[in-house]
Amino acid sequence: TAIEKSKVVEKTTSRLWNAMHRYNPDAQPTVAVSGEGSWFTDEEGNKYLDGVSGLWCLNLGYGRQEIADAAAEQMKKLSYFPLTMNHQPAVELAGKISELLGASYQTFFSNSGSEANETAFKIVRQYHNQTGNPGKYKFISRYRAYHGSTLGALSATAQANRRVKYDPGVPGFLHVYPPYSYRSIFGEDPEESDLKAAQMLEEMIIWEGEETVAAFIMEPFISGGGVIIPSNKYIQRVSEICKKYNVLLIMDEVVSGYGRTGKMFGFMHAEGVQPDIVTMAKGLTSGYLPLGATAVKSEIYDVFNQEGKDNHFRHVSTYGGHPAACAVALKNIEIIENEKIVDRVHELGETKLGKLDQLIDHKNVGEVRRVGFLLGLEMVTDKQSKTPLDDSKMGEIVGKCKQKGLIIGKNGDTVPGQNNVIIIAPPLSSTEEDLDFIIETVNSVIRSL
Ligand code: PMP
Repeated sequence: TAIEKSKVVEKTTSRLWNAMHRYNPDAQPTVAVSGEGSWFTDEEGNKYLDGVSGLWCLNLGYGRQEIADAAAEQMKKLSYFPLTMNHQPAVELAGKISELLGASYQTFFSNSGSEANETAFKIVRQYHNQTGNPGKYKFISRYRAYHGSTLGALSATAQANRRVKYDPGVPGFLHVYPPYSYRSIFGEDPEESDLKAAQMLEEMIIWEGEETVAAFIMEPFISGGGVIIPSNKYIQRVSEICKKYNVLLIMDEVVSGYGRTGKMFGFMHAEGVQPDIVTMAKGLTSGYLPLGATAVKSEIYDVFNQEGKDNHFRHVSTYGGHPAACAVALKNIEIIENEKIVDRVHELGETKLGKLDQLIDHKNVGEVRRVGFLLGLEMVTDKQSKTPLDDSKMGEIVGKCKQKGLIIGKNGDTVPGQNNVIIIAPPLSSTEEDLDFIIETVNSVIRSL
């Protein structure tokens, strides 16, 4: 009954300030109680397929006994230990990360994606300070990018709507044009358009003064800003430009890491690219425990580890690299490898999610963008004007999917505050039936518009 329901809500959510909460007296808050595979169940017994993997983090889905056991065993053995010293899971995990990245990297652990990026920014500034370039302090990121919620990471986040009430941000963060051929001033040819966007980065570095630019931060595929997928040549070109001007390349793999795009890391789609710094969180533990990681090329780390110089990194995180979180990450990676999750995502991304490409014939679908298990549908009022589909229609799509038992997302910030991109990013362990359910539901809801 309504009274029973209101009691449930009062008990469980009324004092909780939800993330991104907006006033909505009619909202029916979902209170999740359990989860298994790609599905979670709410207090009333309704089951939903989590088509966005929580916040794009449940790479292996809910309820893996082996991962829960790894956490419990580690907590019983060594419940906490600071990384001003060593503990075994952190040492082992740092070694594993270096192996997965395909070159020699040293890893600093934290608790989240935002912190992983903050850590990267501090490392970069100190690195330039200690290598004779103290004037290099500026960071460049792309418009539409999301790099986190803390003030530094938010300053790299270049979506006006997320920042406007918190500005001014941290000084020294600049933004450049993204590789977004669907709406680019450089035209719709993906490669040509994206290469011009890369060229803008070079012009910007020159005009700002290369002696002032410290690093460029990018996601291989912009996720929170509307699933923007550049051509591989863009990533290669950007990497060359960064090298040319001694601008460090920070690759934000918080979403794209650990198999999401059909490669272990997103940057691996662009042959020959090896970032200076790789930041990660989310899929590193499949969301079972919080963990962030900032992996730094060994040549950079060496500058913080020299005999006779006070050049250590003055940075510490009480919980960063918690033993249980590292044990969970090791188990998570073991499963990803044993179950060949990355190959699976590559294949099923094509054969299953690829079926949604057909939606392009619908009048409101401007573009279907996808890589692996990361898919965005850019919704428009009509293909000619490309006007973003309004919020109420977008809400209707998400709401109808939920009524049918499927959670999907919307984001984009195409025009500040306008989220006209439908997001689909299911757990990488989703069964073929799960994927069929997503395809059928999304198809039927969009076709009913
Ligand atoms: N970088 C990217 C690309 C992200 O998508 C996010 C989170 N959505 C973050 C960083 C920040 O991660 P967290 O929420 O764990 O701080």
